[in-house]
Amino acid sequence: MRPSVNAPVHGRQSAKSVMEELDVVIVGAGFNGVYLLHKLRSEGYVVRLIEAQSGLGGVWQANRYPGARVDSHVPNYELSMEACWRDWVWSERFPGRDELVRYFEHIDKKLDLSRDIDVDTRLAHCRFGDDYKWRIKAENGREYEASYLLMCTGFASKPHTPELPGLASFRGDCHHTATWPETGVDFAGRQVGIVGTGASGVQVVQEVAPVAGHLTIFQRTPVTALPMQQRQLDADEQAVAKAGYPQMFKRRNVPPGNFHDIPRPEVGVFEVSAKERHAIFEAAWQKGGFAFWIGAFNDILLDEAANRVAYDFWRDRTRARIHDAVTAELLAPTEPPYPFGTKRPALEQNFYDLFNLPNVELVDLKSTPLTAVVPEGIQTSAATFNLDVLVLATGFDANSGGLTAIDVRGPNDESLAAAWSDGVETYLGMAVAGFPNMLMLYGPQSATAFCNGPTCAEFQGDWVARLFNRMRAQRETCFETTADMGEAWTEHLAELAETTLFGRTDSWYMGANIPGKRRQLLNYPNSDAYREKLWDCEANGYEGFVIR
Ligand code: FAD
Repeated sequence: MRPSVNAPVHGRQSAKSVMEELDVVIVGAGFNGVYLLHKLRSEGYVVRLIEAQSGLGGVWQANRYPGARVDSHVPNYELSMEACWRDWVWSERFPGRDELVRYFEHIDKKLDLSRDIDVDTRLAHCRFGDDYKWRIKAENGREYEASYLLMCTGFASKPHTPELPGLASFRGDCHHTATWPETGVDFAGRQVGIVGTGASGVQVVQEVAPVAGHLTIFQRTPVTALPMQQRQLDADEQAVAKAGYPQMFKRRNVPPGNFHDIPRPEVGVFEVSAKERHAIFEAAWQKGGFAFWIGAFNDILLDEAANRVAYDFWRDRTRARIHDAVTAELLAPTEPPYPFGTKRPALEQNFYDLFNLPNVELVDLKSTPLTAVVPEGIQTSAATFNLDVLVLATGFDANSGGLTAIDVRGPNDESLAAAWSDGVETYLGMAVAGFPNMLMLYGPQSATAFCNGPTCAEFQGDWVARLFNRMRAQRETCFETTADMGEAWTEHLAELAETTLFGRTDSWYMGANIPGKRRQLLNYPNSDAYREKLWDCEANGYEGFVIR
């Protein structure tokens, strides 16, 4: 590693075309990118982070739609360093998007991050050369050369808009939740349509229903939304809790980690009496957040019969809140539309109650498919719905879409998109054969989406730093995984799809929301087991990597 000879380039300065020589280039300023910048800088590496957007925060910069908020409760969704939490106070148990962006501004100041970040800088091309260096070019003309390339581009950085015939002809306002205008959108008294009822759809509905003249929600598949149990937090309460933060954050990074107060359950649904089962479900329901999904019983996502019991509890609690029987059957059907929890449950505050309002209407796209978007609104096989505003809460080309959108090329000039044209193949969800000295964080085939974001950022980031330190100590310059490791890891994921219930459902976990994408499990569904695999690889001398 060589010391930097370049003066820092600050984000808002004009683009420059001279090559900047670095140890590491990090792409993306979400939790993974900023944690790695801090960690690697503190280990003595010369690092530059480039970010396409104008500020830090990753998904929270982009997803500024009304109601956007995190589903991981305080204090899980934050970095564990005391400098970051000591004088930061959250206002809500599940903070909203604006507060999360302010949190990133806070950690930027505390960790002095921006001096090594180029914002408004979108990575366009990068290529690994014969001299073992990545040459990296951004859309604004900036160029970098680095020994290592760390892709922290996010699992949800490519919004997905389905092919809706006639969409361009719509005369009203139309916005995808992930590309929301900074000026906001006025819903008051207007005819609004929302397509999609995933996590973002649920959050937008809760904001729009109380103010819209009429709100039509177009549902293809029901969401199994769980009670958030949101509440305000005050500073005194957090000051008391902070006494336990060091221990709590330490626990988060060892099994059973993830959420500090949702331990992995030790019993199965049928190992307790009906009375005990009801009490356990009820306690998880009252706790809110993901407790009912991952904290009640250990076999809900493995065993069909156990899963059905959980579904029935969810269904009965949910239907009790919906007055109209037809609407109740569409939102919480008698028979489960898919095994409970195999599509990411949303968290809701009053989503189901809103369907009792006279201005809210649910349209079932299964029985009356959407046939076209017309200038006036949406046409289904049964009717035309006139709309002033159309919200597309249609999600993302998750996990791999953001990565394959970039022209990343290994030494043989093959692009990542070409390497994955028949499906994603990684080792540990971090490395790809044919792409030396490059790692992906929170990438496809890692515990992404089943691991609380900052928790995963820290344990993967620490692993990366230890790998680089070993290579520095041993004067090694290149690491690479092999094709057979990628095949074996992909096979392991395929087995997990079969031995859990995830493989039965068409979800974005399975890549199944994107037409033409290979149907394969793209998220490792157990973050503790995943972390163990990562640590085992390291303990066994970085087994699966060739290092020279
Ligand atoms: P991101 O936060 O996605 O950041 C990636 C960054 O890379 C972005 O800023 C993007 O602009 C940048 N980028 C992408 N491509 C390029 C390029 N070519 N050039 C330069 N920059 C680029 N996780 C949880 O744990 N709990 C939750 O409750 C939760 N809620 C979520 C809600 C929403 C709406 C979304 C979309 C995600 C949610 N997540 C949640 C997952 C979330 O992705 C992670 O928590 C966390 O943000 C991951 O951080 P990251 O650094 O990997 O990526």
